Amino acid sequence: MNDWQTILRDVYKSPVDLLQALNLSLSDFPELDLNPSFPLRVPQPFVDRMMPGQASDPLLKQVLSLGAENLELAGFSQDPLDEHLGPLPGLLHKYRSRVLLIFTGGCAINCRYCFRRHFPYQTQTLKRAGLDAVVEYLNFHPEVNEVILSGGDPLMADDTALRSVLSRLAKVPGIRRLRLHTRLPVVIPQRITDTLVDSISSVGIPVVCVLHINHAQELDARLQQSVAKLRAVCRSVLNQAVILRGVNDTAEDQIQLSERLFDAGIDPYYLNVLDRVQGASHFNVSDTTITSILAGMRNALPGFLVPRVVSEVAGMGHKVLWSKAPAS
Ligand code: SF4
Repeated sequence: MNDWQTILRDVYKSPVDLLQALNLSLSDFPELDLNPSFPLRVPQPFVDRMMPGQASDPLLKQVLSLGAENLELAGFSQDPLDEHLGPLPGLLHKYRSRVLLIFTGGCAINCRYCFRRHFPYQTQTLKRAGLDAVVEYLNFHPEVNEVILSGGDPLMADDTALRSVLSRLAKVPGIRRLRLHTRLPVVIPQRITDTLVDSISSVGIPVVCVLHINHAQELDARLQQSVAKLRAVCRSVLNQAVILRGVNDTAEDQIQLSERLFDAGIDPYYLNVLDRVQGASHFNVSDTTITSILAGMRNALPGFLVPRVVSEVAGMGHKVLWSKAPAS
């Protein structure tokens, strides 16, 4: 079995190669973009969960570059959450008690709907700010009690680098917990190495892991094994998903996702309304559909398996709970 770094090195970067691996032909996708400005990246273990010969596969739709990404529509911008200016390069302080640290400059997979698809990772990562500056910022901001390491995926860093950052942050007096926002264990379950598990267990303060899984088909036995390892050392393992047109935009899709998450020991946390980033408008779902998905989930699931449906509004100090009534 290949190690995670070899799998990462060998990701699919060409839409043609990806379609070939799935026994699909270019003629199945007349709207394909062969040279997207946001490059294609898809690791093999994620491809293994796609259905060969199925052009409408919900995992394939999340990663395949289409011409629709080049549309420039009103209301869709390059930085929908106004993240270009943080107090330090790679450090965002949007919510009072939490800061978000952009630890690395990329991800194992490029999700076509990503709200950071235009993010200037070259200038906005921890590398540019330096850990000393971040620690100094935290010392001057005692209202911050949690650091979220987010995408670019923090688990792209090697185990040694990650261990050193986690342990340094955990020693800042006001920090009560650390959070890892990652999709890497989902798309490359081999990323959950014994060394990583050991690093998390030695942090000394609680670590919360928030995974990103959009569809029940993403959960397979190998991922479940990796989640079990994470659960042994993390205070909680949660999931956030994004509602995506044609991928998971029915109540049944979401009910299946919640049930599979429960089977894998992951608690549904957030179901995010799509951020209006340029290039992702074809994933947008109507308000009526979102309201009906939420109603369907509430009817079919116990409360602890219904994620909070939220949207993020630039400049607001918290996420906004979905509260739109069904159309009459
Ligand atoms: S893993 Fe997350 S941050 Fe990375 S491309 Fe996908 S949605 Fe964006």
